[in-house]
Amino acid sequence: MESANEAIEFARRVFELIDRTRTVSTYKLALLLALIDCCQEGFDERGAAPGMVTTRQVARRVLELYWHQARIYDEQQCVLLQNNGSQAEVLTRIGRFRREHANVTSSYVAERREPMAFARLLNHVEWKLIEMPIPRLHTMGTVSGEPLIYDIHWSKGIRKRASGISAYQQAYLEAVSEYGHADLLDLLDGGDFDNRIRLGDGVGDYLVWLAPLLRPIIQREWTRLVAHFNDVKTHRIEEFLFGPERSDLSGLREPLRELQEGRCFYCDAAIRGSAEVDHFIAWARCPNDDLHNLVLAHGTCNLGKSDHLAGVNHLQRWIKRFEPGSALNDGIRSVADDIQWPASESRSLNIARAIYLPVPPDTPLWARGKQIFEPAKPSEIRDVLASVA
Ligand SMILES: [Zn+2]
Repeated sequence: MESANEAIEFARRVFELIDRTRTVSTYKLALLLALIDCCQEGFDERGAAPGMVTTRQVARRVLELYWHQARIYDEQQCVLLQNNGSQAEVLTRIGRFRREHANVTSSYVAERREPMAFARLLNHVEWKLIEMPIPRLHTMGTVSGEPLIYDIHWSKGIRKRASGISAYQQAYLEAVSEYGHADLLDLLDGGDFDNRIRLGDGVGDYLVWLAPLLRPIIQREWTRLVAHFNDVKTHRIEEFLFGPERSDLSGLREPLRELQEGRCFYCDAAIRGSAEVDHFIAWARCPNDDLHNLVLAHGTCNLGKSDHLAGVNHLQRWIKRFEPGSALNDGIRSVADDIQWPASESRSLNIARAIYLPVPPDTPLWARGKQIFEPAKPSEIRDVLASVA
């Protein structure tokens, strides 16, 4: 980090920016959160955040956020409005997709079963981002602010055809139709359209370091906005908007029990009776449903750990899941294939680095039980994380 003061100044200005998003839709907040996600999941083994992300990478994260929120909110029997007065276009499209493909539960499955329809949906989200929030994030009304977070090659009022975006998105559809879905396609360059969002100096690292602060604030602001658009109470919808979809996780109990040989991930004692699926890196710190990040634990162990970061012994046990060729590693892959569940090793590892490496010395990490913590030792954490580089 350049200096603590610079990070604080950066944070102050991001807060200002969040404050200015109190407008007509949740798009700008989605963009900010997606940028944080992209930086966390792109945090590499050298401990550096990416300096650039593509519009398609950001679109994928935004689609993921809204995918989850585009389900029916029971109390109102409809999809919650994300726009003042009428529904935001992206939500309408995702809602329609979910209705037309009622057999797919997650966006992950959707992309594999309906690659072309999903690619078109992704294109739509990407175009909306290019058109609306990306060139407007730094501006306030008619005043264009200085580019605090990123630089781009286009401006407000961009036209789809004239700017080469139509051709660029058509090329993506052709690539998906030829090769099927592949993560690498997210990095396809844009031809005539420059799809790079170039992060300012140090910005990626700041976003990773400040994520524990920024994520909850953005989510709270987003919740407040949606509550306002839909005239519901904030506390009623926060979990609906940003919590994990727990119902989906219950199907993982048995496969995880088998992978862990019937033992609790945290205390290693046998699991008799019921057990809970836990996100090793807490969902609140970075939403990651990847199979590597899911462990089975006693209800009491899960409750004790809660949203805390687990101590280095737990991290060491967890990192074994990534050991190439190990029975555990193979087991996770085969379960993921069997039940069509996401299992991207690099994504989970990058996120773990992004969450653990910035932890200051002596931060309390959860060890066991209700209240037993241990002080973090950054050098130990670094060694454990480096053991699977
Ligand atoms: Zn336990």
